[in-house]
Amino acid sequence: MEKSVTKTMRVELLYATAVLLLAAALTGVRADGISDRARALHKRALIVDTHDDTPQRMVWEKFDLAHRDPKGHIDIPRMRDGNLGAIFFSIWVPSKVTGPLAVSRALKQIDAVREQVRLHPADLALATTAAEVRAARAQGEIAALMGMEGGHMIDDDLGMLRLYAALGVRYLTLTHFGNNNWADASTDKPAHNGLTDFGKDVVRELNRLGVIVDISHVSDKTFYDVLAVTQAPVFASHSSCRAICNHPRNMNDDMLRALAKNGGVIQINFHYTFLSQEARDANLALGKDVAIVEQEVEKLCGENEACSVIEGGRRAREMMAAGKIPRVSWEKIVEHIDHAVKVAGVDHVGLGSDFDGATMPFGMEDVSKLPQITEALLRKGYSEKDIEKILGGNTLRVLEQAERVSRSMQSGSSK
Ligand SMILES: [Zn+2]
Repeated sequence: MEKSVTKTMRVELLYATAVLLLAAALTGVRADGISDRARALHKRALIVDTHDDTPQRMVWEKFDLAHRDPKGHIDIPRMRDGNLGAIFFSIWVPSKVTGPLAVSRALKQIDAVREQVRLHPADLALATTAAEVRAARAQGEIAALMGMEGGHMIDDDLGMLRLYAALGVRYLTLTHFGNNNWADASTDKPAHNGLTDFGKDVVRELNRLGVIVDISHVSDKTFYDVLAVTQAPVFASHSSCRAICNHPRNMNDDMLRALAKNGGVIQINFHYTFLSQEARDANLALGKDVAIVEQEVEKLCGENEACSVIEGGRRAREMMAAGKIPRVSWEKIVEHIDHAVKVAGVDHVGLGSDFDGATMPFGMEDVSKLPQITEALLRKGYSEKDIEKILGGNTLRVLEQAERVSRSMQSGSSK
């Protein structure tokens, strides 16, 4: 009797275990507790994204961040879903737009960001220092910062640079795709052999102002020229690793090591042809087809850059879905983070998505998907402390160091 009861119990126990395992398999939940740990870690981390092109939408489409809008990648509800703590809105005009027009378009975007902060005080706080980022977080607000993408917007005038800094700009990407009058870009023919003397003055003035020098987009020679001049750590606000995807916009391992020596950070870009060599190769091989798509997008959108990003991204993802370009998955982002950590060290890697300015890989459709990165890093064996550094701690450290260098230069110059 006892024997048979035990047997029945054992069978029931086995049955119950099988049902539980099946349920776990069907729902994709792993029974190892890592998902729970990842959720808790992601919730408490201060997550910083150093590159988002949403100001284009604010200006061209009068987009209001309060509205959940799946056409783009960023809005307040989805920043809340993804627990983004601080966002650098990118002030950008194309390299070919120069002079006073570039200045006026930049100012319009700065105003648009500041207006969004004014209109949504319960959700957004303008931040210009690491302390202000932390204060915003403590009050349950998302810190809104600004970075300027392209030195041509200063119109060869250090005075303009000082005014942008006064309005809240906290990094300057020295070039965009094209060279400007004082720095070479990675995607243009070298014209200055790196930085000119005025370009070096720009770096010194950025140091003095506490504005971070951003070396994304610049040529390799410009990068090394910057390192020879700067007194503060620099960062690459949205670049990935050349060892995985050989694109001139990405950084090679020597550059990563030099960046680490400077105390800087590479913030990994999520754009699909910066992440995947296969996608980049397919894109290049499609040459004419891609050019036709680009022409169609240009015809449809004209100068509306927000439209170009949305339409271009939609078509690129269509080509991936149709198998014309290999499908790039979000896990590739984690591969780049892991590579950069192995080469530069865990204190020198961060996140610079390029949301609203690039084509996202599958699984990273918008900012709400960020928690996956935290979980993937935990599963790779990263410590919680190291993950917090990658998610935002490293970037805040660079901002703090820039502030410190600025203070010491300002007190030095008053003597
Ligand atoms: Zn860019």
